[in-house]
Amino acid sequence: MAGGGDRRVVGTLHLLLVVAALPLVIQGVSRGAADWTQEKNYHKPAILNSSSLWQVAEGTSIFEMWKNDLQPLLIERYPGSPGSYAARQHIMKRIQRLQADWVLEVDTFLSQTPYGYRSFSNIISTLNPTAKRHLVLACHYDSKYFPHWGNRVFVGATDSAVPCAMMLELARALDKRLLSLKNVSDSRPDLSLQLIFFDGEEAFLHWSPQDSLYGSRHLASKMASTPHPPGARNTNQLHGMDLLVLLDLIGALNPTFLNFFPNSARWFVRLQTIEYYKRNFYLNLRDLSLIQDDHIPFLRKGVPVLHLISSPFPEVWHTMDDDEENLDETTIDNLNKIIQVFVLEYLHL
Ligand SMILES: [Zn+2]
Repeated sequence: MAGGGDRRVVGTLHLLLVVAALPLVIQGVSRGAADWTQEKNYHKPAILNSSSLWQVAEGTSIFEMWKNDLQPLLIERYPGSPGSYAARQHIMKRIQRLQADWVLEVDTFLSQTPYGYRSFSNIISTLNPTAKRHLVLACHYDSKYFPHWGNRVFVGATDSAVPCAMMLELARALDKRLLSLKNVSDSRPDLSLQLIFFDGEEAFLHWSPQDSLYGSRHLASKMASTPHPPGARNTNQLHGMDLLVLLDLIGALNPTFLNFFPNSARWFVRLQTIEYYKRNFYLNLRDLSLIQDDHIPFLRKGVPVLHLISSPFPEVWHTMDDDEENLDETTIDNLNKIIQVFVLEYLHL
């Protein structure tokens, strides 16, 4: 994840433009598009009752996540490195072993970087790819490249090994319920789930529009030119994204999340409400600001975004201390439960 003083000021200026342009963008996307692309605008969650909430809390395991999903990711994994390959294999293996019918796709491409052409690979995992609409959870699996420091390497625990592990644990804990998404019924919208693991979020050298967000920039334009549902004439895969929930810089103690975007505010409020009933920690609603991250290329193309990033950034951000030792288990466990409830409610499961 990227941030820092100068960029944030630029980000705030950008925001004014983004907010001003938003109604136009949405109109632009919807003109000529099919009616179903509007369904996300009035989609309502199916609220879970207290015994279902209890079941979710019982069904997820921070210990399993830690050992099976997280620890194998705590390695150096900048784009093109041996660790990047290992991380990709790990993510795909964890998904392939599940019962739900995940369709895995690896989006590999070359891009010019300050070090010449490099190879990047996004991982896209989709349940029911032909469903019209998808709720999308996303994170980046690359770690920022840093020269080794003595015997220490940068493993980016909050940035973003933990969000990747949280998504894997969500898929595991909700496996049986997600399996039932296959059964189309009249009461359930034509809606499914997609997980995206971006490569190349980090800058190799200095954050700039050219040196950052390699994977998300590539995938956003690829999806914009891929017809969806297959064979459609006026709609593409971006129309099929109901909401992009981007997780980043998660895992440190007591994070604060901000509500960034007016058009996804009601989903942010829903997260707050779920959190309130858990009464464990607080998601604070504060001023708008904009942080450069993988959601930007999608936001620019009119996709509604919920950006779950701890703000201010964790103290260990982009230091060798962003490691396993500085993670807070309880915080992550709580967030797992909140996000799992959010997904079940959104998908009417
Ligand atoms: Zn970062």
